[in-house]
Amino acid sequence: MSATSVVNKLVRPELLDMVPYQSARRLYSSSEASNSKIWLNANESPGPGIYQLNGDCINRYPDFQPEPLLNAYSEYCQQPRENILATRGADEGIELIIRTFCRAYQDSILICPPTYGMYAISAENHGAGIVKVPLLDNRLDLEGMRQQVGKVKVVFVCSPGNPTGNLIPHDQIEATLNVFQDSAIVVVDEAYIEFCSDKTVANWISKYPNLIVLRTLSKAFALAGLRCGFTLANSDTIVMLSKVIAPYPVPAPVADIATNALTKEGLQQISIRVQESNLLRAELSAWLNEQEWCQQVYPSDANFVLFSTQKKDLIFNALAQQGILIRDQSKQLQLDNCLRISIGSERELSLLKKVIEQTITVSATSHSI
Ligand SMILES: *Cc1c(COP(=O)(O)O)cnc(C)c1O
Repeated sequence: MSATSVVNKLVRPELLDMVPYQSARRLYSSSEASNSKIWLNANESPGPGIYQLNGDCINRYPDFQPEPLLNAYSEYCQQPRENILATRGADEGIELIIRTFCRAYQDSILICPPTYGMYAISAENHGAGIVKVPLLDNRLDLEGMRQQVGKVKVVFVCSPGNPTGNLIPHDQIEATLNVFQDSAIVVVDEAYIEFCSDKTVANWISKYPNLIVLRTLSKAFALAGLRCGFTLANSDTIVMLSKVIAPYPVPAPVADIATNALTKEGLQQISIRVQESNLLRAELSAWLNEQEWCQQVYPSDANFVLFSTQKKDLIFNALAQQGILIRDQSKQLQLDNCLRISIGSERELSLLKKVIEQTITVSATSHSI
C-alpha cells in the first residue's frame, strides 16, 4: 500500500476533509521576499520586538513554569503566580481549555461569530461540538446564549474582538459569567487588551470561579515569533490545565526573552508603542470614514481597523500588487465586503492610503470614459 492510502486508512476520518487555520503566515510565508512586503494582515506590531537572551543552560530541560517569567507576568497582570499558566502562545491556551473541559464527541463549545478562527479549529481538532450564537451589532446575544445553558461546556468571548475590533461591554461579560455560572467556563480572550488596558477583566478571577482570561505577547509586545502567551484563572483551573499541557511548554530561550520584555524598561516601550498605535488607528479610522467608497468603519479598541466597501476586491488586489498585505474578512458571518488593516508604522499606513487613493482615482476615471 502507498503511504497515502495507509495514512488515509488509519487517520481519524474527520481529519481527511478538515481545513487547517488559514493563518496570515500560511497564506503568505515570511520567506517570500519579506523585506519587500508590508505586512498589515496579522495584527503584528511594526518594528522590532525586544530580543535579549540571558540563560546559558540550554543542555537542561527548562522548568515546567520558569519562575522569573511567572514572577514578571504576575507583577504585570496583578494576579498571584498560582493563577497563571505560561503557554506556547494564547493559541495553546485555547486548545488546552477545550481538551481539559470538553469530552471528545460529547461536549461542545460556544462561539460568537464573527470571531477568532482558532476556537472552532481547536474544537474540531479535538472532536468537540461547536454552537454558534452570532454577535448582534457587535454585542453579545445574551438571550441566545441563555438558551444554550446546559448544552455547552466552554464559552469563548473575544474582547476586544478579532476581527471586529471593539471591546465587549463589561456588563455583558458579567451577565455571561452569571448565565453560565455553574454550567460552563467563560473564556475572555484579551489578546489585544494592552490597547485599552484599563478594561481587563482579569481582576474578576477571584469573584467568578468560571472565568478564564487569555493573554499573549504576540500583539502589543511585538513578539509574535516568540510564541508566548498566558492563561489566567483560579488555581483549581490552572492545576487542571497543567495536567493536560506538555511537560516543558516554555523553551528556555523563550522564557528569557519574554522575561526581558516584561521588565520596567520593556513595559515602557510597550506603553509608547501602544500610544503610537492608538494614534495611528484614530487617524486611519478618520480617513476611512471620509472616503466615499467606504461604507462602514467598525469601532476599534485594538491594533487593527475593520471596514466594509463595495470596492473590496479592487482595493485588496491593488494593495497586494504593491506588496501591501491586508486581510480579507468577507467570508466571515455578517462581514460581507469587509477588509481588516493592521496598524503598521506611520510610513506603511501612509503608503497604503496613497495606493488606495491612486487606485480609486484610476478606477473612477476609467469608468467615466
Ligand atoms: C492573535 C490572537 C491569538 C493568538 O495569539 P498567540 O499568542 O500568537 O497564539 C489569540 N486570540 C486572538 C483573538 C488573537 O487575535
